[in-house]
Amino acid sequence: MSSKPRAVLAGLQAALLCSSLGLSLSCAGENLWTDLTSISSGKTNRGRTRRPAKMPLKGEGYVVPERWRERGFQYGVDELVAAVERAARLVNDAVPGSTLGVADLSAMHGGRSRWHASHQSGRDVDLIFYTTNEDGEPLAPLGDDMLHFDGDGEPYLPRREEYNDEKWEERRFDTARNWLLIESLLSDPSVRLQWVFVSNQLRERLLNHARASGRPQWMIDYAAVVMNQPGDAPPHDDHFHVRMYCPRSDRFYGCRERGVVWRHEKKSFKYGGPERYDPVLWHLVAAGPALIGPP
Ligand SMILES: [Zn+2]
Repeated sequence: MSSKPRAVLAGLQAALLCSSLGLSLSCAGENLWTDLTSISSGKTNRGRTRRPAKMPLKGEGYVVPERWRERGFQYGVDELVAAVERAARLVNDAVPGSTLGVADLSAMHGGRSRWHASHQSGRDVDLIFYTTNEDGEPLAPLGDDMLHFDGDGEPYLPRREEYNDEKWEERRFDTARNWLLIESLLSDPSVRLQWVFVSNQLRERLLNHARASGRPQWMIDYAAVVMNQPGDAPPHDDHFHVRMYCPRSDRFYGCRERGVVWRHEKKSFKYGGPERYDPVLWHLVAAGPALIGPP
């Protein structure tokens, strides 16, 4: 079905829903519709959130460091907040003592801010890189800094910037845990990622690590598609910026995509309702019974 008849159909469905509920006022515009869960409306760079989930300031395997607590940008769609919590827990299970630094999601009602062009509709989150000391031991995120890292995983100080932490030079990019974080998010069937913005050099470093540690080729290819250095923003060598597609249930309520729909996502875009595409399961089935285990 082309997009126009589909839009007409969605409008008709809405009209039917409104008239059958007799709620003509609450159905006056798409930004007033609700399904009683969180809703991302509009685009990531021109949008709002309704009934968002609030990321708790700390949880198992993660913390919102001081600087980002003060801004209060802890709001996102239910699916994103839950996925970040799950991913942090998985990394912490794999490497006990891991603490992910969760920086900004969106403001309580979304919308514009002085810090971000996007982050408006509850579908973006900035995640601070996991770091270690020089001996490879996990370190907690800093309260007030995002350190920049080069392709060797060593920190550097860009001109005209300064760090508050005096020992920043002793930190290293933790390639293994940062890869694990990305793999956990990509494997989560409840969110579909459009982008993980990260510098080209760190992207290469992460993909090389995945190859060297024998991760499945499909996962490496998948990460290679989604991880990118943005063309119209800073290179993101100091954090991951993760953006998810509209939750499928929010599309009807005015959630709008911006930019590319990856080939592997196209099928799931045809249908309404909850997510059906589980990347891990799909690849296990496609690979045949050997990978699933004995019958
Ligand atoms: Zn961001």
